[in-house]
Amino acid sequence: MSNNIQLSYKEDLAILTFDREGSSANIFDRDTLDELSGHLDTIEAHSSLTGLMLRSAKEKIFIAGADISQFIQITDPQEVRDLARKGQETFARIGDLPFPSVAAIHGQALGGGCEIALACDYRLASPDKVTKIGLPEINLGILPAWGGSVRLPKLIGLPKALDIILAGKTVPAYPAWKRGMIDQLCPREHFERIARIWIGKGKARPKGDWKTSNALAKGLIASKVKPMLQKKTHGHYPAPFKALEVCLQAVSKPREAGFKLEQDALAELMQTDVCQNLVKIFFLQERAKKFKIDETEVPPVEKIAVIGAGVMGAGIAQWNATRGTSVILKDINAEQVNKGMASAGKILGAALKRRIFTKAEAQAAFDRITPATEDVSFKKVDLVIEAATENMDLKKKIFVGLDAQSGEDTLLATNTSALSISEIAETLSDPSRMIGIHYFNPVHKMQLVELVLGKQTSPTHAQRALSFIQKSGKLPVVVQDSPGFLVNRVLMPYLMEAGRMVEAGADVEKIDQCILNFGMPMGPLRLIDEVGIDVSHHVSNFFSSTFGERMPEVKGLQKLLEAGMLGRKSGKGFYLYSKDKKSSPRPNPDASSLIRTSGDKFTIDYETGVKESLVALMINEAAMCLEEGVVHAPEDVDFGMIFGTGFAPFRGGPMRYADTWGASNVVATLEHMEGVKISELLLTHAKDDTTFYPTKDAS
Ligand code: NAD
Repeated sequence: MSNNIQLSYKEDLAILTFDREGSSANIFDRDTLDELSGHLDTIEAHSSLTGLMLRSAKEKIFIAGADISQFIQITDPQEVRDLARKGQETFARIGDLPFPSVAAIHGQALGGGCEIALACDYRLASPDKVTKIGLPEINLGILPAWGGSVRLPKLIGLPKALDIILAGKTVPAYPAWKRGMIDQLCPREHFERIARIWIGKGKARPKGDWKTSNALAKGLIASKVKPMLQKKTHGHYPAPFKALEVCLQAVSKPREAGFKLEQDALAELMQTDVCQNLVKIFFLQERAKKFKIDETEVPPVEKIAVIGAGVMGAGIAQWNATRGTSVILKDINAEQVNKGMASAGKILGAALKRRIFTKAEAQAAFDRITPATEDVSFKKVDLVIEAATENMDLKKKIFVGLDAQSGEDTLLATNTSALSISEIAETLSDPSRMIGIHYFNPVHKMQLVELVLGKQTSPTHAQRALSFIQKSGKLPVVVQDSPGFLVNRVLMPYLMEAGRMVEAGADVEKIDQCILNFGMPMGPLRLIDEVGIDVSHHVSNFFSSTFGERMPEVKGLQKLLEAGMLGRKSGKGFYLYSKDKKSSPRPNPDASSLIRTSGDKFTIDYETGVKESLVALMINEAAMCLEEGVVHAPEDVDFGMIFGTGFAPFRGGPMRYADTWGASNVVATLEHMEGVKISELLLTHAKDDTTFYPTKDAS
């Protein structure tokens, strides 16, 4: 029997304290469920109790959910149903006690952690930053099946519950209280006292969603929600549809009938490839959080400087300031640096509105950023991140200056998107302290950071940078110095080919649509517009000059540039953008006719030829990155592409998808394309009928 939950008594109050041995988190595995069940036997047998309180002894976690690594092993549908039933029945015993139960939530109450709280009569939550409540199961391709899909709609009404369940949302304490998921917010020091007040009110009266559980309202909700889900998922993700069905049915059924629906839905969803792939992505994310770092060997990074207060510099300054780091934000003049400060302030303002920060926290973060225009000493700065304009000569000049202005232990980093870290490092007297820290745009939304090792970057400096990235809440992927590193390198041939297809007469919207159908969050031509035709043109030229014939320049981009079509920022690119943000961009016929070079009709089928060619190019480039050692494992590619570009998560990433599609099919597609150099590694897999991952089923 495990020892993860302590049962204690304070007078007539029973207290279950979740405190998993040897871990900073509480999770539910089979043993913990059994242990809980054992404690409930004791509590049920106790005749003089008047209430039960559930709490956690951990600093940041109430209960983080189920042990996914244990439960994903279960393949037999009946075993899945049994597991769902075990959780449902155990939690139901808490709500069925003859006296009231209160969940006192401090830290994350996710998945099963939220579901056990929903099974209690009342819920308290600390208004602390670490307190977050939600049901993220949909993100793993499943649904809440320990009573969450049944109880939440009954507690807060179908519309609000569906907003949480179908999007897999996790919300801070205050919005959770506003939505009715929490009965009272109170500091954790007062949990016991306040719990007793709620217990004094007696058992909670069973709630029912009377307004929306009737057939007419449910029909209306379904007719509104289904098309929204279809638009969002392009039909690739079955879990939200299944969860919708279960919630709609269960809300007007007795609890046990609802539980049965949850069990069947879980058994069905866990069999899907989508679920298997999404769970693998979850583990890739966990892997990125757990790079082994000997913290005794690396001095902490407490003070940083950011050079360049543009889009990226301001974002990097804002992100790190909110993590408690002091930041000097430097640009060439007051106008530029003020723009950067204003943009950092705007991001903080939006976060304040969404109650991610309190006013005091947002102000403190803003105050941690010190603007600078003059040359300042960086001797006491732990890390400098250069985020100035993408130009090798300019960057070299900046680093010559930094060499003199920084201390000998200052880590020097560049946020360049594609330039050589090793070449920039040549300007330094000690190139071992040079590294690439490549954030993605927008910094406050994109979790991925590429940590780029230059030829001479020392392991200690690399560890220090890795520790800094992890502690700042970003997810690192370690890559070797190579043009475009991993993510931009894999993306560029695909974007350039889409541009060339338009030159050959293909329809802009149809190209984008077939890629949306594949599962990418945005089509390649829309993406070029978002990045900017000027930036894309610059990067495309950089890639053609670096990789030569196999990545010919997209000449059309130059023509668009000359015509003032810069993409979204100028209102015109491959699409036309109206100022009214609500209206969707329309294809720009002038752009297509301007760059079209062929008089022939474009005859390639979009859903097969176009889609497969574009995806195969990404796989090919990713295989080359593996072959050249830019990254070492297919996991790195999949992780980088999913978190850096949103590559169809349900397909598991380009390498996982290549294994499903079959290397020989990828090669056959590439062989039909002109001027493509096929990766040796890919050819070998095609010849030997082998896969990038060790076996097709390996996790
Ligand atoms: P930007 O044009 O928005 O900002 C660049 C800033 O650098 C400007 O404010 C400019 O005044 C300043 N600058 C120029 N010379 C300087 C100097 N000598 N000292 C201090 N400041 C100087 O550019 P951005 O989009 O923020 O890109 C910055 C870097 O980040 C580039 O290397 C770019 O490749 C990289 N990057 C950009 C993106 C993106 O999507 N924008 C994504 C990842 C990486």
